Amino acid sequence: MICPLCNKNVKELHKRSHILPDNVYQKIYNKNPSKEKPRLSEINFQNKKSIKAQTGFYGKIMCSECERKSQNYDDYFHKLLKDKNIKEYTKYSEILNFNFKKTQKYIVLCILREHLYQKKLLNKNYFNRLKNLYLNDINDDETFPIIIIRILKNNDLFKYGICPPYWDRIGDHRVIRFSHDGFDFVTFISSHKKTLWVKNIRLKKDQFIMINIKNRTDTRSFKKILKTASKIIKK
Ligand SMILES: [Zn+2]
Repeated sequence: MICPLCNKNVKELHKRSHILPDNVYQKIYNKNPSKEKPRLSEINFQNKKSIKAQTGFYGKIMCSECERKSQNYDDYFHKLLKDKNIKEYTKYSEILNFNFKKTQKYIVLCILREHLYQKKLLNKNYFNRLKNLYLNDINDDETFPIIIIRILKNNDLFKYGICPPYWDRIGDHRVIRFSHDGFDFVTFISSHKKTLWVKNIRLKKDQFIMINIKNRTDTRSFKKILKTASKIIKK
């Protein structure tokens, strides 16, 4: 059997690979201390349906070696957000002392896992290019720009909600988004030229910016917020 991620010939695939890492579900588990396990709902924007499960979502999607490696990125990113080595500005925050490749690999990995799980998120071209970005040490922060948004309001559904990767559109751009722990990760996929505001606020090799928004709003006002943030960051 061929592992779809590393293309190596393996006996079998790992039995329980989480689509989003297990630790993103901890908040939900902890919020419900009763003996009864909470029921999670996965809202699938692509198929417009909500699936219920007792635990996180997992599947047979990669070999054990890929699973072991992927856990390093999951752990790295979880620790990065937990350490809160953050410098606060009015409209945005900056995470200091981060590793660009590991951060980018974590976000790309979540997209790849969702694709391997439902087998229809990406076309062959985008799958191969994102896979290449994940497997190799290419220092590229421009081809697939990533914007990270932090939701501040505690009563927003997305503050605690978990949303696996799905397609969305921001302006003319096609993006893949996913959310957990009050963060919204937006990866620009379309191949046409990225506008200046996207370039300004994207995750860069030497700068990890998070755009602070009160709550998750509709796509139109969302673009306006991002453009405003881009002007402030540029100064
Ligand atoms: Zn593999």
